[in-house]
Amino acid sequence: MPSSALLNKTAKVDYMNLDSHGKVQAMYIWIDGSGENLRCKTKTLDFEPKSHEDLPLWNFDGSSTNQAEGSNSDCYIKPVAIFNDPFRGKPNKLVMCEVLNYKQEPVATNNRRTCKKAMELVKEDRPWFGMEQEYTLLDVDGHPFGWPKQGYPGPQGPYYCAVGTGNVYGRDVVEAHYRACMFAGVNIAGTNAEVMPAQWEYQVGPCEGIEMGDHLWISRFLLHRVCEDFGIVASFDPKPMKGDWNGAGCHANYSTEAMRQPGGIEAINKAVEKLGKRHFYHIKAYDPQGGKDNLRRLTGLHETASIYDFSSGVANRKASIRIPRHVGEQRFGYLEDRRPSSNCDPYTVTEALVRTTILNEEG
Ligand code: ADP
Ligand code: MN
Ligand code: MN
Ligand code: MN
Ligand code: MN
Repeated sequence: MPSSALLNKTAKVDYMNLDSHGKVQAMYIWIDGSGENLRCKTKTLDFEPKSHEDLPLWNFDGSSTNQAEGSNSDCYIKPVAIFNDPFRGKPNKLVMCEVLNYKQEPVATNNRRTCKKAMELVKEDRPWFGMEQEYTLLDVDGHPFGWPKQGYPGPQGPYYCAVGTGNVYGRDVVEAHYRACMFAGVNIAGTNAEVMPAQWEYQVGPCEGIEMGDHLWISRFLLHRVCEDFGIVASFDPKPMKGDWNGAGCHANYSTEAMRQPGGIEAINKAVEKLGKRHFYHIKAYDPQGGKDNLRRLTGLHETASIYDFSSGVANRKASIRIPRHVGEQRFGYLEDRRPSSNCDPYTVTEALVRTTILNEEG
C-alpha cells in the first residue's frame, strides 16, 4: 500500500506557512453509503465562518459513494457542526455535514436527522452521553501494527493501560490524535491502551444530545487523518483478530438529569428495565450491519455478554449494561451500555437510548 508517510514531511512545512490572503479552507466531511466510512472535500471561503449556519450548502457525486444513481447523481452536503482544523491550522475549519438527496431529503445512511428529532423531543431531560471508542492500529499490510509478521505476540495480559516497548504499539499516533481532538474542539475525555496489543481507546464526552454523534464522527475523521501522516491504518472493525483476542466496542455511557441527582439510581434502574425489554431493537441499532458485526464480537467471552441475552449488573463487565461501581455506591450517576460495536453510528445508538428510556417506545 502506498503511504504518504514516506514523503519528506519537512518539504510541506514551507507551503503550509504561505499567506492565504484572508481566505479560509473549509473541509466538508460526511458519512458515505457504507454508513461507516467518511469522505471529505475542501471549499475555499472568503470569510471565517463562526457557525455552521454561515456555511453554504454544497454538493458531491453520490454515485461514487454508493449514495445515488449515476444518472441522477448529485447529493447535497449540509453543514451541521464546525470544528477547528488541526492540520491546516486556524482559521481553517472542519465541517460535519448531513447528506441529502436531490430532493433535499436525508439519504439512507443519514441517521442524524431522526436522531436530532428524538433529541429535540427529550431535551428537557438533558441526556448526556460519553462514548468509549476502541480501535486497532494496523500496518499498511492489514496486520496489527507491531505484531510479528509471522505468528502472534504473547497472550493478552500485559497490554491494557500498559507502558513500555513491547507492551504498547503505536503510542505516537494516540498522542497526536489526542491533541488534534483538543485543538479541533472535540470533547475528548481521555485515552488508554487496550487489552489486545495495538488496540487503543479514547473517550468522547459527556456530550449533550446530538453533539455526541457530531463529536465522535469528527474524532474518527481526525484519527484516520492522523494515521495518514504516520503511514498506519486505524480499523474500527469490532473483531479484527479471530481467536483469543479482545474485540473492539464503543461503550455508551448515558444519563439524564434525573439520573444525575441524588437518589438517581431509581431512574437508572427504571431505564435498565426498559432496555431489558427491547434487547434486539438495540442490537439492531448498535452496528452498521444490523447486528451482524456484533455477532462476531458479543460472544460472552472477552469481557462481553452474549448477543442473545440481556443482562445488567453493578461493576459487571460481562453484562450488557454495567452500572459503574461508584454509581452503585453513591446511588446516582449514569449507566454504561456495553453493546455498541466500535463501528457503530453514534447517532443511531444515542437515538435508540432516548427512544427506549425517555420516549418509552416499545417493540
Ligand atoms: P470504563 O470504566 O468503562 O472504561 P471510561 O472512563 O473509559 O469508563 O469512560 C467513561 C465515560 O463516561 C467517559 O466518556 C465520560 O465522559 C462518560 N461519563 C461520565 N459521566 C457521565 C454521565 N453522567 N453521563 C454520561 N456519560 C458520562
Ligand atoms: Mn470534479
Ligand atoms: Mn473505558
Ligand atoms: Mn475499553
Ligand atoms: Mn467501558
